[in-house]
Amino acid sequence: MAIDNSDRRTGARRGLDVLRDPLLNKGTAFTQEEREAMGLRGLLPSHVLTQAEQVQRFLAKLRRLSDPLDKFVELNSLHDRNEGLFFRILCDHIDEMQPIVYTPVVGLACQKFGQIFQRPRGMFIDINDRGNIANVLRNWPNPAAIIVVTDGERILGLGDLGANGMGIPVGKLSLYTACAGIHPKLCLPITLDVGTNNDALRDDLNYVGLRQRRVTGAEYDDFIEEFMTATQEVFPGALVQFEDFANHNAFRLLEKYRDRVSSFNDDIQGTAAVALAGLFSALRITGAPLIEQKVLFLGAGEAATGIADLIVSAMIANGLPREQALRQCWLVDSQGLVVKSRANLASHKLTYAHEHPAAGDFLSAVKALKPTAIIGVSAVGGTFTRDVLEEMARLNKQPIVFALSNPTSQAECTAEEAYRHTGGRALFACGSPFDPVQLNGKTYVPRQGNNSYIFPGIGLGAIVAGAKTITDDMFMSSAHALAQLVTESDLEQGSLYPALPRIREVSAAIAATVADNAYRRGIASKPKPPDTLQDVQSQMYDPRY
Ligand code: NAD
Repeated sequence: MAIDNSDRRTGARRGLDVLRDPLLNKGTAFTQEEREAMGLRGLLPSHVLTQAEQVQRFLAKLRRLSDPLDKFVELNSLHDRNEGLFFRILCDHIDEMQPIVYTPVVGLACQKFGQIFQRPRGMFIDINDRGNIANVLRNWPNPAAIIVVTDGERILGLGDLGANGMGIPVGKLSLYTACAGIHPKLCLPITLDVGTNNDALRDDLNYVGLRQRRVTGAEYDDFIEEFMTATQEVFPGALVQFEDFANHNAFRLLEKYRDRVSSFNDDIQGTAAVALAGLFSALRITGAPLIEQKVLFLGAGEAATGIADLIVSAMIANGLPREQALRQCWLVDSQGLVVKSRANLASHKLTYAHEHPAAGDFLSAVKALKPTAIIGVSAVGGTFTRDVLEEMARLNKQPIVFALSNPTSQAECTAEEAYRHTGGRALFACGSPFDPVQLNGKTYVPRQGNNSYIFPGIGLGAIVAGAKTITDDMFMSSAHALAQLVTESDLEQGSLYPALPRIREVSAAIAATVADNAYRRGIASKPKPPDTLQDVQSQMYDPRY
């Protein structure tokens, strides 16, 4: 779906119609000539601002606000008024803005979604739309090329937020545009409302969704089937990214649709790629080979098994037999170490249920298994205790510690704790942002193992090549592409990822590797250009006006 990346043509539209369309509106930055041509005279104050001046004004206003939720609302209303300015601010100040439009603040925004709701964005498709979903999708005014869809059942680490989960697809698609330059017109956030099992929400006056318990079983599956079919009927070839579905649906839906529709699950696959990239960086510091790593996960859900699967693939690629590679990855869930003798294990955990005596808690598992790396994806805050971190430091010269759970309140440990309790030796990555830490005269700069390093580039690459499916190799090569962009000076300060302001460079590199993968495997619906990277870069939306 080719869209001119500077497309702001107004066609026959004039006057207030232009000012009220956020994709066209430039507010006080319309020049005198544009005001004349579009019938805007008298509808705007006389002084013409440059976009750079608008940015300064907006930032001053935003920074006067101290409450993160107020900042979210302010940014959101700019998004509703003037997308060019909104994305310019996101692109140029991504370090400051990403935590507001995405984790951690978006979690709070979802929890308060009903209270802060002003204007709808994206589509709400509910269970009563069965039989009519394609027609509902046709109400969307633009040609969607990428859809982020949630059913709201497992929003971040916050549980079932029902239709209030809409903040997530909206936030994620903002990052697709800001980080990878996918034109906002091509982005469609969707919430599938099948009810919520969150009793408090159903009783909440402000709740925006259906007040009924979740539909499950065949009725749910039929609804999803109709939805997936309808997306391809109305928006042929559109990429569908599954987001924040609960375990019992996430794995199934991914397997069911991944070969039929260009689709992926970011919680499983995007997380895997970003974590593997962090591990590659950590190993550049330790110098140890990947196949010698023993990785213990706290959490055994989508993130944990997704990351473990990709680590196993990478170990196999490095020559380790599959059975041995599997035994390098271990899971701990709320019942303790996942071992073969445990009854009633969920199917997605079985691959990592090895023969081993039980261990009831994480510290005992660390002591028993002696991992080189621990990865926290349990959504339970504070679980990498001082004892756990000290034990990791006792076992390893440079223990790898990734506390990836979001939002900040659910992080397994803070950056400060990770460095302090390992005598500054931890190779640390986090899910939510943490400030630099000073310890023994050294400054450590922890960086987020945030999926936003990966998914925007995957989406862009898939759109550019018209990829018919999204393959596991694409995530593997994305992890390599991301790790290659980490510099020696990043590593010296303990940063396992590139600085976030380089995100468009990162996304372009990932998009090129994804598109090349599609051309090579014969799953692209577009011809291979002479220079893939240049082709990718030429299609990135530029919010400057
Ligand atoms: P999930 O619900 O699929 O998995 C959570 C797992 O944690 C489950 O297996 C559950 O049994 C386990 N668990 C719950 N309580 C536990 C306890 N007390 N001890 C040990 N395990 C426990 O969720 P997910 O998609 O895997 O995400 C988990 C967390 O990781 C969330 O906070 C999410 O926001 C975060 N996450 C971060 C990133 C990132 O930063 N890149 C990416 C994806 C997910």
